[in-house]
Amino acid sequence: MKNKKSNIALFSDRNTKSVMSIWGEKKYSTVLVGLCLLCAVTHAGYMLFFAFANVNFMAVFNIFSTLFYCLLIYLTRIHKHYLVGLGLCIEIMLHVGMAVINIGWGYGFELQLFAVIAISFFLPYKKLSSVYYISLFAIAEFFLLYAETNIFDPIYNSYISASARTIMYLFNCCLTIIPLFLESFLFRVSSDHSTQVLTDENKDLSVLATVDPLTNLYNRRYIESKFEIAYRRRENEDEPFCIVIGDIDDFKVVNDTYGHDCGDYVLKTVSGIITSSLRATDCIARWGGEEIMILLNSTDVGNAIQTIERIRIDISEYDFEHNGTHLNITMTFGLSWSRSDVATMLKQADEHLYYGKKNGKNQVVYDIGN
Ligand code: GH3
Ligand code: MG
Ligand code: MG
Repeated sequence: MKNKKSNIALFSDRNTKSVMSIWGEKKYSTVLVGLCLLCAVTHAGYMLFFAFANVNFMAVFNIFSTLFYCLLIYLTRIHKHYLVGLGLCIEIMLHVGMAVINIGWGYGFELQLFAVIAISFFLPYKKLSSVYYISLFAIAEFFLLYAETNIFDPIYNSYISASARTIMYLFNCCLTIIPLFLESFLFRVSSDHSTQVLTDENKDLSVLATVDPLTNLYNRRYIESKFEIAYRRRENEDEPFCIVIGDIDDFKVVNDTYGHDCGDYVLKTVSGIITSSLRATDCIARWGGEEIMILLNSTDVGNAIQTIERIRIDISEYDFEHNGTHLNITMTFGLSWSRSDVATMLKQADEHLYYGKKNGKNQVVYDIGN
C-alpha cells in the first residue's frame, strides 16, 4: 500500500515538474499570473453584474475575490506557487457555493467545480493528497448544492432577468470549457514530453549496455548477438562472413614502460584506426583487455585478408605519440573464415592468433593447415 502511494506521488510530481520544465519556472509563473489576472478581471465583472442585479452580498463578495486574486498575483511573484494553487481552488469553490446559494442553480456557476478538478491536477502541490481532497470536495459540493437548491429557494429569488440568466450561463460555460481544454492540452504536452525523456533515457541506457566506455567499441555481449545474426544469414542466404581477433603486441611492455595512461591511449587509438577502416555493416568490439574482435559481414576470405592486412600495416606505420613519447605499435590478427558454427570459428580465430604470436607477431594468420 505504501509503495503504491509513493508511485502515484512520483507520477504527480512528474506532471507538475514536467509542465514547469517544459516552460521553465519563469514562464510557468507568468501563466499562473495570467490565470489569476483573468480571475481578478472575471470577478470584477461578476461584481458589476451582481451590483446591477442588486444581489448585494455577492457584489461585496466579489470585491474581496478581486482583491484576493491580486494577493495571489503577488504570491506568484514571490514563488509561493503552492499557496497560489490552493488559494485559487478554494476561492473558486467558495464563490460557486455562495453564488448558487444566493441566486440559485442554472447560472452555470456550478459547472466551474468541474474546472477546479482539472486545474487542481496541474497546480504545484506539496502533497498529492491535496489534489484528491480538492477534487472530492468539488464533487461533493456539486451534489450538496444541487440538493440545497432543491430544498431551499435562493436567497435573492427572481432578482435576475431570464436573458441575464442565459448570458451568465453561457459565460460560465465558456469559463469552464477554457480551463478544461487548456488542462487537457497541458496533459498531452507533458505526457509527450515524459515519453520523449523516457525514450532518450532508454537510448542512453542501451548505449551504456552495449558500448565499452574506454574505446567506444561495442562490448562482447553485443558482438556475440551479431555473430548469431551473421550465422543465420549464412545458413539461410549463403552470405559469407569472417571473424577476426586482434591483439596488441607486447602491450604489457607499453604499460610497464610508459604507464597505464599511455596504454589506454594506445588502446583508444588502435580502436579508432580499426573502426575507421571498416564498413558500417561490420562490427567491432572490445573482446577483453587489449583484444579486439571484428565481424566482417558479407565478406569472403580474400577480401577479409586484404582488409585486415591493410589495418595491420596502418597500425604498424602509425605514429603513436603520448606526452612527447613516440611509440611503434603492432598487432597480430587471427582470422577465421570456415563455414562452421560460431563457437568453432571463434576457437579457430584464437588458434590462428596464438600461432601468429608464437611466430613473430605483427601478422595476419588465416591458415595453419587445421
Ligand atoms: P602479447 O604480445 O603476447 O599479446 O603480449 P602482451 O604484453 O600484449 O600480453 P599480456 O596478456 O601479457 O598483457 C596484456 C596487458 O594488457 C596486461 C594488462 O594489464 C593490459 N591491459 C588490459 N586491459 C587494459 C586497459 O584497459 N588499459 C591498459 N592500459 N592496459 C590494459
Ligand atoms: Mg597483447
Ligand atoms: Mg592479450
